[in-house]
Amino acid sequence: MISSVLPTYNRAPIAFASGAGSWLTTTGGERYLDLGAGIAVNALGHAHPRLVSVLSDQAARLWHVSNLYQIPEQQRLADLLVAETFADTVFFTNSGTEAAELAIKMVRKYWHEKGQPDRNLILTFEGAFHGRSTGAIAAAGSEKMVKGFGPLMPGFQSLPWGDHDALRAALTDQVAAVLIEPVQGEGGIRTVPDQCLKGLRDLCDTTGALLVFDEVQCGMGRTGRLFAHEWAGITPDIMMVAKGIGGGFPLGAVLATENAASGMVAGSHGSTYGGNPLGCAVGAAVMETVADPAFLAEVNRKAGLFRQGLESLVARHPDVFEAVRGQGLMLGLKCRAANTDVVNAAYAQHLLTVPAADNVLRLLPALNIPDEDIAEALTRLDAAAAGLTP
Ligand SMILES: *Cc1c(COP(=O)(O)O)cnc(C)c1O
Repeated sequence: MISSVLPTYNRAPIAFASGAGSWLTTTGGERYLDLGAGIAVNALGHAHPRLVSVLSDQAARLWHVSNLYQIPEQQRLADLLVAETFADTVFFTNSGTEAAELAIKMVRKYWHEKGQPDRNLILTFEGAFHGRSTGAIAAAGSEKMVKGFGPLMPGFQSLPWGDHDALRAALTDQVAAVLIEPVQGEGGIRTVPDQCLKGLRDLCDTTGALLVFDEVQCGMGRTGRLFAHEWAGITPDIMMVAKGIGGGFPLGAVLATENAASGMVAGSHGSTYGGNPLGCAVGAAVMETVADPAFLAEVNRKAGLFRQGLESLVARHPDVFEAVRGQGLMLGLKCRAANTDVVNAAYAQHLLTVPAADNVLRLLPALNIPDEDIAEALTRLDAAAAGLTP
């Protein structure tokens, strides 16, 4: 008989009852050290006192009014995002996949309004992940996600990873946009080198294609800058954000320049829940915390500490691990053992990690993880690896 919850997930047999910082406690009272942070969502850890207080205050005041009215909390978060980024304007969603939908619609509408409605091809990259809507699976185009769900939405071409010639050949002046994760998350913590992001920006400037970054996973301080593309010193025309921006509350956003957003007018897009007072009040508290240069400096310092520890772990367990990859606190261990075996060995050490494609183990701790928890995580990873060494 089918389970009462649609069986679309392979869940570990663990259930948590509470959390604090980088620790989770199961319903049976066992403590786990959390290096997954709800897949890069709990950017400030669990039950962060400021977020709890902002959420409870807002909950006692007002949850939802709809976008028929002004929403001061939404306005405030939009102003913060515009002040801290390339963007001139922001639309709020409840998830990453909804952000992908709007990004795609915005691109299409842009060219429609420019009198080139046939200019609707969006280039994407192998290994990409942009969400689970019909549009987002068509965009990413991975066999695993699209099989059985056809006919797929047309208008996408997936390019091989890191193939500059293929990109140059495909990026004609008929291409509407290029959609890329500056650091692939699900794809296995694969960082696009700064030089390549710069080159991509140049190519888009030459052909007029809009450059769309999916920073759903790598954004909001994860790589040690507020947004990952800042490392490359360039900006996109449109950017998708979600995961960390709500600190655990479902929240996403599409950020855009005035030009890229110029096709979007009253009635061209909407969302009942998007930008609700609860989510935006929490999002503003997350933004104020994470955008602080002192906070980001700490992320980078902690990342250095963690990375150094991971490098020596790789050296100590060459049969289990191959290399460290990633940036900031978006780290991956390329495994020699099966990454799922490493995830399970880590469970046995009461340590939570996340598998990714390319046989990578993802380490996405809370951005404010204390140094002693990093040290403890390394000890537990070492024990997990020791158990796997043949
Ligand atoms: C998680 C993710 C998404 C989808 O976000 P959901 O909130 O799960 O819809 C899109 N893009 C990237 C890069 C992601 O990591």
